[in-house]
Amino acid sequence: MPATLDQSRRYIRQTIFAPIGKEGQRRIAMARVAVVGCGALGSSVADQLARAGVGFLRLIDRDFVEIHNLQRQALYTESDVLNRMPKALAAFDRLSAVNSQIEIEPVVDDLNSGNAARLLEDVDLIVDGTDNFETRYLINDFAVANRRPWIYGGVIGSYGMTMTIRPDVTACIRCVFPEAPPPGVAPTCDTAGVISPVVQVIASYEVAEALKFLVGAIDKLNDGMLAVDVWQLSIDRVPTGQPRPDCPCCGLRQFEFLDAPADDRETVLCGQDAVQVRLAHPNEIDLDQLARRLSGAGEVIRNKFLLRFTDAATDRELTVFPDGRAIVRGTTDGDEAKRLYATYIGI
Ligand SMILES: [Zn+2]
Repeated sequence: MPATLDQSRRYIRQTIFAPIGKEGQRRIAMARVAVVGCGALGSSVADQLARAGVGFLRLIDRDFVEIHNLQRQALYTESDVLNRMPKALAAFDRLSAVNSQIEIEPVVDDLNSGNAARLLEDVDLIVDGTDNFETRYLINDFAVANRRPWIYGGVIGSYGMTMTIRPDVTACIRCVFPEAPPPGVAPTCDTAGVISPVVQVIASYEVAEALKFLVGAIDKLNDGMLAVDVWQLSIDRVPTGQPRPDCPCCGLRQFEFLDAPADDRETVLCGQDAVQVRLAHPNEIDLDQLARRLSGAGEVIRNKFLLRFTDAATDRELTVFPDGRAIVRGTTDGDEAKRLYATYIGI
């Protein structure tokens, strides 16, 4: 007879903690949370939320696991790199093995204006594990328009920030950062690197905020911007105050990221020498047929989730997902990425 686990003791250290207690645990078990991005922050956030017993977790990530992720992305292993696993699926496999008592839904896609409503509408809370302002502004637009709380987190080098946003009550992310810094101006993980300790610290603050929100400890929530530098040993709390009447999002209620048409478009991926190309109307692609077609032009590797093609002439690498989305590696030039996409995959 297979051994069974005594699940009744799973959360005992958390329910003994008075601010959570059994009632808090019941609320956590009922909760639905979306984690957007399963890279460094998202890995750690998803791991902690799954272990804490959040009843439903939707894990959204567009990327696959690579060797340089392992330094800080705590859910993944070398075999995920070798198997070219999409991060959302690798996270699903790992966390399903950690906690079989919760529901986890992996989504291998990027969050965009075309799918934001579908992916975020049925959750109580959104937690940021992304690495770019475009997606954060989209989350913020959705959150403000639909009065859904979300928790921002960002890391670079040894420095990180987090903020808890409750629409109508607190400032939103665009009250604090009205515009994203122009490309090339702000340091990125590419130019400044990032170390694991700050990832774990910021992810932990995000999860603590999530747990407080889910158990109803609203008065304990972070009411400003919390900034930490683990190398310099600095911790700062900057009050962010009330929603600003002149904020383009929560003040003027202009949801430019949410309202943006879901065109065919390319997105330069942070810190990766890569560009994502996606179609406005995703088209199921026959990856086996594509593999046969491309096999004369370079190296083709296929698993059940994706196809990777390396162009023998230019060494550019295209990773193609079944919905037609592709990540073109070896360039940060969007036009070149689209050209390669059109050449090899066609529209
Ligand atoms: Zn605002």
